[in-house]
Amino acid sequence: MRMIVTFWGVRGSAPSPGRLTCRYGGNTSCVSVEAGDRVLVLDAGTGIIPLGETLAASGKEVFILLSHLHADHLMGFPFFEPLYCAAERLHLLSYEKDGRPWSLMNLLDGFHFPVEASELTVQPHRVETDPLGFLRTQGFEVRRHPVNHPGGAFGYRVSRGGRTLVFVPDNELDPPGAATVDFAELAAFCRDADVLIHDAQYLPSDLPMKWGWGHSTLGRACALAAAARVKHFVPFHHDPCRSDAALDAMQAEAREALAPEGIACTFAYEGLRIEL
Ligand SMILES: [Zn+2]
Repeated sequence: MRMIVTFWGVRGSAPSPGRLTCRYGGNTSCVSVEAGDRVLVLDAGTGIIPLGETLAASGKEVFILLSHLHADHLMGFPFFEPLYCAAERLHLLSYEKDGRPWSLMNLLDGFHFPVEASELTVQPHRVETDPLGFLRTQGFEVRRHPVNHPGGAFGYRVSRGGRTLVFVPDNELDPPGAATVDFAELAAFCRDADVLIHDAQYLPSDLPMKWGWGHSTLGRACALAAAARVKHFVPFHHDPCRSDAALDAMQAEAREALAPEGIACTFAYEGLRIEL
């Protein structure tokens, strides 16, 4: 069965609405992977809000998986419509933090949001043990790898029907301290993917001020795509300060670098849809 990958939020760190960012979009991290009546949602940034509007009455089973717990990857969840009208089809895959499962339902605590979890008419299904094993029973073969990000984060490799997508929204390829994952190890994890979605937030001019903030330069992310021999590279987690015109220029630079390698490159934008 084919996977349909749709981008709902492509921005990193903070939402960035406005006329200078409206083409690529200002919502934060959220990508859906649809296969028949099942939808795997990667991250719950503000992009999950428009996704929720399309899923609420769809009758599809929805599975939410998180790369990590920074706010830009969670903040849309309390406004996710299926939570209030289709929770019986909503499966929340716990994020493992210090050996303990953490659930998005923790956001509905009465402090961060006015509605408390206990007030919901139907509770979503919390998958607290072996979330990736549970996804396997739903037809999504998912592997994960810890990556370089302050506080920790995971990258995911999702396969279905012989096609593969790798999602690494936040990762610093060359961190200042000891690396959780080195370049060659990550390239092996991404090897031969049909689509690689990887953090490419920075330009060399953003460093050294932001060295250690947990994100990669476009140049190094392109080098990873080339080393891993992926087919299509989708730079992701755009800086909130980056205008559409600046992203156009970065995309042109990346395409020029990757064309000799035979790798297609599309800078992630809201509404981008890739069929695998
Ligand atoms: Zn982020």
